[in-house]
Amino acid sequence: MKDLWKAPALGLVAAVCAAAVIFLGETAPTAIKAVLAASVSLVAVSGVALSFLKKAATSAEEVADTARQEKGRIERDFQKVKATSEELKKRVMEVSTLMASLKSIARAIGQSLEYKKILSFVMDIAHRNIGAKKCSLWVVDAASREIRVEEAYGWTDADKASARAEWGKGVIGYVLDKKIPYDCESSKRDPAMMSVTRDSLIPSVICAPLIVGGEVVGILNIEEFSDAKKSGIQDEVGLANFLAGLVAMSIKNSRLFEQAQDKANTDGLTRLFTHRYFQEQLDQEIRRSERYGDCFSLILTDIDHFKKFNDTYGHQIGDLVLRETAGCFKSAGLHKDVTLARYGGEEFIVILPHTNKDEAFKVAEHLRKSVESRAYDTDSGKLKVNISLGVSTFPDDAQQKSVLIEMADHALYRAKKGGRNQVQLAIPEDRQQSS
Ligand code: GH3
Ligand code: MG
Ligand code: MG
Repeated sequence: MKDLWKAPALGLVAAVCAAAVIFLGETAPTAIKAVLAASVSLVAVSGVALSFLKKAATSAEEVADTARQEKGRIERDFQKVKATSEELKKRVMEVSTLMASLKSIARAIGQSLEYKKILSFVMDIAHRNIGAKKCSLWVVDAASREIRVEEAYGWTDADKASARAEWGKGVIGYVLDKKIPYDCESSKRDPAMMSVTRDSLIPSVICAPLIVGGEVVGILNIEEFSDAKKSGIQDEVGLANFLAGLVAMSIKNSRLFEQAQDKANTDGLTRLFTHRYFQEQLDQEIRRSERYGDCFSLILTDIDHFKKFNDTYGHQIGDLVLRETAGCFKSAGLHKDVTLARYGGEEFIVILPHTNKDEAFKVAEHLRKSVESRAYDTDSGKLKVNISLGVSTFPDDAQQKSVLIEMADHALYRAKKGGRNQVQLAIPEDRQQSS
């Protein structure tokens, strides 16, 4: 490249030679003219060659330059593709964990009707796939309409202690009332939402209502994201609303299941538990008492002369009295652990956990007196019935379920024989009759 100056020099030499040829003209010997002409040609050819080389060198430089630029562009494109591929890989991972979690939820909805299990799956997805650092699930109490936290993720003890939400107050209250989802991004565009957000008892970046049959049964609230969202949270809002729909469905299912189970375990006439449910509870109570070395008692009751009562006042009034007697048991102020069941016909049975024989006797007397003192308003006037009761205690009287029931039945038989409207405790002689 550095020899390129030679092109103009050669041009100059060629010109001098050409001028010499013209100047010498006819006078010069033919040999000299030939040499000069050859020199002119050689110089001219060299000039052309050099100019060609110069051009070639310039385009080679340009090519090298373009190649460098192209290489840089390819490298940049490669980095971009690499980043996109990493991002896609991450998204695929996210989607596959989301799919796995959704599969678990679907399985849980299908297999388990305990919606609590589903709530913890949903919290997990809110954390992993929505990127929630803190989130919570709130459920509206069907009776009191109060809203309480049922499940939370990333909460400190202080968060748990101070968590509060009210109908009509702040974002949660707004979502409960309006039954529409909230997200902090779109609410920024709505000036009316500023005061709602400010009034919140708990922060919300996304708040989705759980709606069942047009009723809001709870809230999925995302309080904080793990990382600051650079732009757009619409994917997260979409997923949060989808999860809210799943939770709402599982709450609905579990409520329907509870209702169906209650129905199956409840006697239609008296609203006490059924005989089957009593048997299950008794099995459980025996297992529990065996494990903890505890005691419990059974009270078997039977309405006195009920056949005669039916014959005198009719079966319908008999039914009413059966219902009222059951109501009398329910309102006797027994501990909430107590199981009250209809054993059959006009016989009721009571399981008293952690209750020895003396305590059970007192409870039985209390029930007897409650029924004795009650008068029922019927078309035939105010009517009364009495009951007889037999008591047996685990493990003193028996450790086997069937024997324990038989012991109570023998004690009841003695109460009938002894004149009715009384309580009898199981005695060892009852055991001999049972075996
Ligand atoms: P006791 O004092 O010895 O118990 O005499 P009782 O007449 O009550 O004798 P028992 O317990 O053998 O009779 C049960 C009666 O309860 C027979 C039946 O007419 C009545 N009964 C059983 N189930 C029902 C019911 O669902 N409705 C009505 N109205 N009566 C029932
Ligand atoms: Mg009977
Ligand atoms: Mg009877």
